[in-house]
Amino acid sequence: MASFDNAEQDGLAGFTLSTERLMLKHTWTIARCSDDFKDNVFVRIERDGIVGWGEAAPSARYGESPAKTSAVLEQARAGFEAGDWLAYVEMRRRWESLTEGQTCAGAALDMALLDWAGCKLGVPLYRLWGLDADQTPITTYSIGIDSPEVVRRKVQEAAQYPVLKIKVGLDNDAEIIAAVREVTDCPLRVDANEGWRDKETALEKIRWLQDMGVELIEQPMPAEMLAETAWLRQRVDIPIIADEAVKRAADIPKLADAYDGINIKLMKAGGLQEARGMIHLARALGMKIMLGCMVASSVAITAAAHLSPLVDYADLDGNLLIANDPFTGVTVKKGRLILTDQPGLGVVQGSDDV
Ligand code: MG
Repeated sequence: MASFDNAEQDGLAGFTLSTERLMLKHTWTIARCSDDFKDNVFVRIERDGIVGWGEAAPSARYGESPAKTSAVLEQARAGFEAGDWLAYVEMRRRWESLTEGQTCAGAALDMALLDWAGCKLGVPLYRLWGLDADQTPITTYSIGIDSPEVVRRKVQEAAQYPVLKIKVGLDNDAEIIAAVREVTDCPLRVDANEGWRDKETALEKIRWLQDMGVELIEQPMPAEMLAETAWLRQRVDIPIIADEAVKRAADIPKLADAYDGINIKLMKAGGLQEARGMIHLARALGMKIMLGCMVASSVAITAAAHLSPLVDYADLDGNLLIANDPFTGVTVKKGRLILTDQPGLGVVQGSDDV
């Protein structure tokens, strides 16, 4: 695997790719998979002495892998290097069709380009978009599926986060929520990751979760079960948020009857600019907006945090779940996302070990 250490040696200083293994602090289990690490692909671009960083977090759920993502980025390299890096619209045209099946690759290019452009212009991305860093939301901290003993310990370790997101969707949902409630009264958001396969089961589970103080439910049923989810929505009181059912703006209109809101992730959307468009479209349809993430370093999480003043719910904890974050960027204080006034993304290589 290429790494940051030898990235400089390949003679392509203008556009460098490397794959880094991010180690999870705890085995990360959700309804469909369980992992101890995540291999993400990093893009480093440099021109005029200015460096931009992007990150792709490939997801097997969407047919992505580090190898396929890297191959697409290699294909995009020549067009990217030849372009005008302040001309975002034209630049995106150069990679858009190449990255269609690997949207995380598009996200990495969009992120690197906007980081570079922000640094070139001397402004943080949130300022470029007219946003106020004082209006960032609280992020949830996610608790993966585990035994009740481990869940209790993870929740105790997460005491500094005022709102938790709890993963369910296997056969131990009730045990997990009971274990969480033994150690905290904090607001909970619950993500089933498509784990409940029939609407009656989902209804029973959500009504029970409502009684346990859960404030929203994410992707209770498989993405394609739209009619069943619409049926469910008419029978429960808490918002139902789409995650796996939505990738890009074009997916949103058909979801407006079945879901109260959408979870936007840069990796699904293909970048910050598409995510901004999704936010505005979802708002126009009266939908709530969550900004979520994959397991990723501070590059991708900080990028998403720049958009966070626009959303209702943030779930930007992917960097907090890993033990060897190669970057420093957005921080979290009492759950709130804190952005700096550094230009571009405002990320630096290396950990500050705070
Ligand atoms: Mg989710």
